[in-house]
Amino acid sequence: ASKRYVIAADLGTTSTKTLVIDREGRVVASHSIEYPLYTPTPDRAEQDPQEIFAAVVRGIRDVVAKAGILGSEVLCVSFSSAMHSLIAVDRDFNPLTPCITWADNRSVEFVKPLKEERNGLGIYRNTGTPIHPMSPLLKLMWLNRYEPELVARTYKFIGIKEFVFAKLFGQCVIDYSLASATGLFNLRRLDWDEEALGVAGVSKEQLSEPVPTTRIMQGLLSPYATDLGLPSDTPFVVGASDGVLANLGGGAFEQGVYAVTIGTSGAVRGTVNEPLTDPQGRLFCYALKEDFWVVGGAINNGGIMFRWVRDQLATQEAEEGRKRGLDPYDYLTELASQVTAGSDGLIFLPLLAGERAPYWNANARGVFFGLSLFHDKKHMIRSVLEGVVYRIHSVALALEELGGRTKEIRASGGFARSPFWRQIMADTLGTPVTVPDSIESSGLGAAQLGLLALGEIRDFSSIHDWVRSTVRHEPDAVNHAVYRELTTIYTQVYYQLKEQFDAIAAFQKRHS
Ligand code: ADP
Repeated sequence: ASKRYVIAADLGTTSTKTLVIDREGRVVASHSIEYPLYTPTPDRAEQDPQEIFAAVVRGIRDVVAKAGILGSEVLCVSFSSAMHSLIAVDRDFNPLTPCITWADNRSVEFVKPLKEERNGLGIYRNTGTPIHPMSPLLKLMWLNRYEPELVARTYKFIGIKEFVFAKLFGQCVIDYSLASATGLFNLRRLDWDEEALGVAGVSKEQLSEPVPTTRIMQGLLSPYATDLGLPSDTPFVVGASDGVLANLGGGAFEQGVYAVTIGTSGAVRGTVNEPLTDPQGRLFCYALKEDFWVVGGAINNGGIMFRWVRDQLATQEAEEGRKRGLDPYDYLTELASQVTAGSDGLIFLPLLAGERAPYWNANARGVFFGLSLFHDKKHMIRSVLEGVVYRIHSVALALEELGGRTKEIRASGGFARSPFWRQIMADTLGTPVTVPDSIESSGLGAAQLGLLALGEIRDFSSIHDWVRSTVRHEPDAVNHAVYRELTTIYTQVYYQLKEQFDAIAAFQKRHS
């Protein structure tokens, strides 16, 4: 049979998604297998590596069956994976720890000393990963401090995708992309960074071999070819991180075209053709290829703010929406749209969960500013939607210093379901907002990378035919002027309150 299909496997935090994609970028079949995130204590967020491995194997087998194709028709399997995971394994690749995910916060105590005493900013500028508990660098500092016997027994420290490849092929390889999200990898030399390794307390030998994202592995170990239902010489492309592949697969990789995702949290990402880091340490920089880097910043307070409105602030209104047979989010946005742009001067700082980029301030808290007797619930709802966009805007401004002026925003995540919220974004940033057709951008990106690795395509230009954009919002000049004025006040309020945020966070800690 002729080989016509690429399988993309996207290893996420809630599930592994597998897709069968044809050469024209059509998703022929998709499949998703969920697994739990374990939180034995509030500061831990772990997964079982064997559970994820089983989901990958079953997901590939099941999606091939769903698509009704033969294993012999598969061109390659290409991978996308969540970033920042860490697993200690022994020589037989048995896990000695759970998979410690990006969401795990146990190493937070190492942030400040690393920044203040051990050249944290310098290490960030060489590695591209912000100094944060998500970073494997800090997780290794934690393991060395609290689990020294375990560290002594460890053969290698690897991430979840390396674990999958180690089991399938018996070798530990890490792609440049995931390596660049470990906090241990020198972006310019494309090799492990000596200074970061010293701080983490690991040697190169304890880590995987860094390889390009287009590296092909072949020769599946014996039981797995059968389990997967694929010929044992099927090429497996090591692939990259879900973040950079989402930019590729969303078609957001020209200068000034930024991808904005708002799900529970949110992020803004753009691409540059060389590794660039932020002098102030606010943004990340992750690799896809030698000439394709994704820079950006993540915020904690994205869609979760609207959920808070629905479940805490506007519960009655949400209920009213349900009674009318509507999604409460749609009803609440309908109410918000009855108020004019700028919520008549009500500004919301949506910092309820502390904040990452660009402030990196865990003590920040939410603020309604400018409340008057004139304001009602509708104003409050609208100001929350606007406040989340102001947050995105502040990251975009930091990003523009590295990637150039914003020309277009490509929207994704739950927020992109709302035309009203998308228009607020266009009006605030003063740029068009478009919505790509497919929601599987990481998987599509992995499939493109797979075709490139095989030499089936010469560059990524065909992704534009794969990713159609149906909707486009143009900024409204009048509203843009209103938002310009309010974002200036919003920024001033944040900086004026820095000390008070520390004080109130300390108070809350004492009284919790
Ligand atoms: P995640 O993938 O992080 O679990 P999603 O991408 O599904 O999250 O986004 C969930 C968020 O999207 C919700 O918290 C809400 O803020 C927003 N959202 C979902 N549906 C709508 C809608 N119809 N209108 C506006 N916002 C919505």
